[in-house]
Parts: sequence; C-alpha cells; structure tokens
Amino acid sequence: MNQHIIIIAEQIDGKITQVTYELIASAKVLQHYTDSDIKIIMTGCELSDAARRLSEQSGIDILVINPCIRTIPEEIIPDEIIPDEIVFKNLPASLFNNLKPTYVLMAHNTRGLDAAPGLAVKLNAACITGVEKITAQDEGIYFTRSIFNDRILAHIRPCAATSVLTILPGIFKPETVFNGHAGNVTSIAIDLALSSDDYHFIGFKNNAADTSALDNADVIVSAGNGIREKENLDLIYQLAELFSKSAVTGSRPICDKKWLRYSQQVGVTGATVKPKLYIACGISGSSQHISGMRDSRFIVSINTDPHAAILNIADVCIIEDLSTFIPQFITLYHGSQSI
Ligand SMILES: Cc1cc2nc3c(=O)[nH]c(=O)nc-3n(C[C@H](O)[C@H](O)[C@H](O)COP(=O)(O)OP(=O)(O)OC[C@H]3O[C@@H](n4cnc5c(N)ncnc54)[C@H](O)[C@@H]3O)c2cc1C
Repeated sequence: MNQHIIIIAEQIDGKITQVTYELIASAKVLQHYTDSDIKIIMTGCELSDAARRLSEQSGIDILVINPCIRTIPEEIIPDEIIPDEIVFKNLPASLFNNLKPTYVLMAHNTRGLDAAPGLAVKLNAACITGVEKITAQDEGIYFTRSIFNDRILAHIRPCAATSVLTILPGIFKPETVFNGHAGNVTSIAIDLALSSDDYHFIGFKNNAADTSALDNADVIVSAGNGIREKENLDLIYQLAELFSKSAVTGSRPICDKKWLRYSQQVGVTGATVKPKLYIACGISGSSQHISGMRDSRFIVSINTDPHAAILNIADVCIIEDLSTFIPQFITLYHGSQSI
C-alpha cells in the first residue's frame, strides 16, 4: 500500500457535517480501486470529542490541527476563534508533503471550492472539482464531472502525482453502520504564520433562516431562471397552493436576484430537500442544483428545452413553456374539484 488519501473533514461547532461522511464514502470507493490508506484531517478548536466519534464511526485515523494552540495576532482574529476556512487555507504545504497524499478530498461547496485550487498550486497537484463518479479503467482512475451546463460528462484522468478533488455533495452514500475498530486520533499544532496584512476578521453572523418549512414539505415547487420575470413567481406560488404541505424554493440565480430568500435556495450552497414531490419549473438541472434535490421521491420538470440536464433525473418531463402549462394545469385542477 503506497498511496495515501486525505479527507478534509468539515464540522460546525464540533458537529460533523453530512458531507464529511460522503467524503469518507467517496474515499472508500477510491481505496477499493487503488489500495490506498485513508487519513482524515480536521481543523478547529476543541474537537477531541468530535474526532473520537468520527474515528469510531469510520475506523479511520484522524489528525486534528488545533489552531487554538497557536498564537495568532489579536488584531487578525480576536477571542481565540479562528474560522475553519482560514486555518485550512493557510495550512503549510509541508504538512501535506509529509503525508504524501495521492488524493486530497474536500467537499464541493463554498469552503472546498475556495481552498482546493490554492492547495493544488501549493502541492503542484492536479485539481478536479465537482467530482460525481470515480471509476477504474486500464489506464488508471477516472473522475467524472459535468461540464457545459451539465449537458456533457467529462471523464478526467489526472497525470500529476497528487490530485486535489472536490466531491459533489449528495452523490456518495455513506455507510450506515461501521462495526470495525476505531482509528487513532492525533492532535498537532501548526504555525499558520498569518500576519495582520493577510486578514482582518470582522466577525461571524449566524444564518437565522428557518428551513423547517422545507424539511416538512411533502411537495416543493421550485422556480428557476426559466420563470424570466419576477411576476411569474405568482404562478409558482399558485401551483404550490394546490398541495396542502407545500413550499416554494428556487435555484441560485433566483435567490441571487433576491426574488426568493437564500433560505429558499436548493442546492450545493443551499438547502438539501427530500420531498415526496419536487416540481422544477424552468430549472436546467446543474449539478449544483441537483445535488440538493436528487433524493426527492418523485421529480417533475417543466422546461421548454427537451435536452435540459434535469430531464435525466426527472420522472415526468413536461416540455412546455411554464407560463402556458401552469395556468392551464391550475384551471384544469380547479375544474376537476368542482365536478
Ligand atoms: C460554487 C457554485 C455553487 C452553486 N450553488 C448552487 C446552488 O446551491 N443551487 C443552484 O440552483 N445553483 C447553484 N449554482 C449555480 C448553478 O451552476 C447554475 O447556474 C444554476 O443552478 C442555474 O439555475 P437555473 O437552472 O434556474 O437557470 P438556467 O441554467 O439558466 O436554466 C433555465 C432553464 O429554464 C428553461 N426555460 C427557459 N424559459 C422557460 C420557460 N418559459 N418555461 C420553461 N422552461 C424555461 C431553460 O430551458 C433552462 O433549462 C452554483 C454555482 C457555483 C459555481
């Protein structure tokens, strides 16, 4: 065994995030093909309990990098809180060089995408983002990602000795139960060598958004760029009102335009939803959107484009202008209720 896989775990207030378990699942696929060992890196304060739990749940050795041990100038980051992102982005290349990784796995989310390219440069490594599938062929390991608005799948075989990969959330299913031995947990302190020119820490702001309505909804009607005008959101709300436990969500462009709140955004940088019925209205089906709704029980797409990527995962595809289809559907529905 001479290859090494490093997983960059994520935690929020000591709670391991779902995507970390998915990273472990993807690392195990890679391990199966490459006969590699796996190590997890966690960065943050007071993580001994979380690290021990994760080592028991996964059987993988964990290296905790505790920035609280380090002296970081007070004017950069006060009260001993060092955001994970800052710690991770400033880890020295020597740490990774000592671990000799063949693959470094991070989540394909804001944090992973922020850190992955820089780390790849530091390590003279390949960087493949948005990995959705890992396969082995005669020539080596291939990583699959979507390109051109998810219409084409690219199969990429890295040639560098090290590859930094961001793994798309929602694809690799974690093991439900692990019954093996716990891994070892080691803690180390690392000099991040930050100077006050590098960062000025302003503070944390909690996202107080209540997403419970999305968690509890049986039916979600989601608006995409295809609605074109803000006024057409009325159609989306009217469609949602036909169902008793329903909610309205949107793709990122709709939230960027402030037509819906960010707490209503579905996808890799938004909410993950699993309703009984998901109706995607004018949504093309980017991998970033799909990773937030792919586990919906039944998916209906309303889209004018017969080649839109969302059609690959939809159970029912309605190829029609939504401003034609939705009003007719609502009229038909009300008509059927009055019979
Ligand atoms: C780091 C990163 C994170 C991201 N995170 C997210 C995320 O969490 N969630 C997210 O959604 N996106 C996210 N994105 C953006 C994502 O890549 C896509 O740009 C976005 O999902 C596209 O939104 P859309 O499908 O609404 O729009 P488009 O891709 O513009 O698709 C519009 C669709 O509407 C159809 N259409 C047009 N007119 C009509 C009509 N009259 N009737 C019916 N159909 C019509 C078109 O055929 C098209 O398929 C992220 C991107 C990056 C880089």
